[in-house]
Amino acid sequence: MKFKYIAIIILFISASLIGLVWIQVNWIRESIAIRQQQFDEIVYDAMRKAIERYEKDEVVKFSNSNYYKSQNLGSFFLQHDNNGNINSRYDYIDTNKGIEQTYYNELHLLDSGDIKKLSIDEKDELKAMYDEINESFKMSALATMFNTRSIYEKICSEDLEKIIDEEMRLHGLETKYNFAVLDYNNLDIIYSNYKKLDQKTFEEAYKLEVFPNNIYSNSGLLIMSFPTKKMFIIKTMRVMLGVSGLLILVIMGCFAATLYIIFHQKKLSDIKTDFINNMTHELKTPVATISLASDMLRNEKIVQHPDKILKYSSIIKEENERLSSHIEKVLQAARLDSAHIKLKQTEIDIHKMLEDIVAKFSVRVENEQGKINLELQAVKHMIYGDSDHIRNVFVNIIDNAIKYKKENEPVLIKINTSNSNDGTIISIYDNGIGMSNDALKRIFEKFYRVPTGNIHNVKGFGLGLNYVKEIVEAHKGKITVESIVNKGSTFKIYLPINLQPHGKN
Ligand code: ADP
Repeated sequence: MKFKYIAIIILFISASLIGLVWIQVNWIRESIAIRQQQFDEIVYDAMRKAIERYEKDEVVKFSNSNYYKSQNLGSFFLQHDNNGNINSRYDYIDTNKGIEQTYYNELHLLDSGDIKKLSIDEKDELKAMYDEINESFKMSALATMFNTRSIYEKICSEDLEKIIDEEMRLHGLETKYNFAVLDYNNLDIIYSNYKKLDQKTFEEAYKLEVFPNNIYSNSGLLIMSFPTKKMFIIKTMRVMLGVSGLLILVIMGCFAATLYIIFHQKKLSDIKTDFINNMTHELKTPVATISLASDMLRNEKIVQHPDKILKYSSIIKEENERLSSHIEKVLQAARLDSAHIKLKQTEIDIHKMLEDIVAKFSVRVENEQGKINLELQAVKHMIYGDSDHIRNVFVNIIDNAIKYKKENEPVLIKINTSNSNDGTIISIYDNGIGMSNDALKRIFEKFYRVPTGNIHNVKGFGLGLNYVKEIVEAHKGKITVESIVNKGSTFKIYLPINLQPHGKN
């Protein structure tokens, strides 16, 4: 796929992703605002209930107080008509819920036995009447109370705190809070459990009037604050926030993974295209040279000159060898690709194998004034493995040492063997161009070739070292490399000695 199309797709996905995240963030913000509103409503409801309960309790307390009793003939309350005659009497009983009273006069018949006989409508009617009496009784008690006590006397912080605490719990507001009661008119503090009550805290606090029915004197102002309100709200939304955060992360992760795959695939496809171009060129050149040399051999004039025949036939031989080396490399890679490496394992004498390989290479190296040193120091040098593959491993590394030599310096290769950890270590040093640390990290990757710029012009497919690593690992061995640019490189191969068949199944 062309990069332009990939870029457009990425642009669209990125824009959608940003849009999605934006919508999600806004939606979360709105949800928090709604929760905040709900929180405020619940707080006001709880405060209202607490104030109502407190007011009722205060009235009950006051009604039972000696002062009120002395004013109201003990535990009952009399209602007068316009002429001053008593027309009704309420008895009140202090209960937890407030004041229950019995309405005497026409209604004294309302003992429990009689109530049961009443029809539903009659009961409703009686209840309504009771409610009305209840209210008027309360108002009357309140009026007396407010008339006789100031707000400062009326506030009992312990009782109020107990009620507020209960109401907060009943409303599910189990979080830290502060409250204070102020004088409604001049905002003097009557009671406060705030550490510091400044203007800002006051402005932001929830406010509700205490004793709103007080028509005689100053009533109070209950203010409340929840310092951990935000955290509390967010806590109630944690599942939703967690899930949506997780979903955003999953989408972003998938997008990143998709991008990685797209670019990886693109890189692979570019590498493969390069490889095919490179291979075509590499195969065509020797074929063309061979064809040219054989044409020359067929030329009658050449037939008369044996030295020229020798020259052209050795060109054909050389080019033929080059061709088969290329084909061998490609075949090696193709073999690795076919899922499993099948090892034909036999006993191998590493020393013998190395001597054999070095003998073949030394002609080529010495022709170019180079040198190959072999130091066979390993005591144990018999291993169990596939001799063709192991031979290819050494050939590839030595071939590279010659290929990547410095232009103006004869090649020097030192091969050395030793033993460690039940294995044989074969170390191959060269004084070539070396590799940077970045290159070292990637040389075992398939198709990887160190970008050379104009420094040297050695042809290759980037398959050799990948094959080497796969084969060494198939033999349960290890390969490492150390290298310094312009100084040289050392490849170290560790192969286990145990004379048992092994390898990748
Ligand atoms: P190829 O030689 O066909 O390019 P390889 O897999 O054998 O592929 O090597 C990968 C790369 O590692 C090469 O392109 C080369 O740049 C670098 N390299 C390998 N061996 C040496 C060495 N001995 N000295 C310097 N560079 C090397």
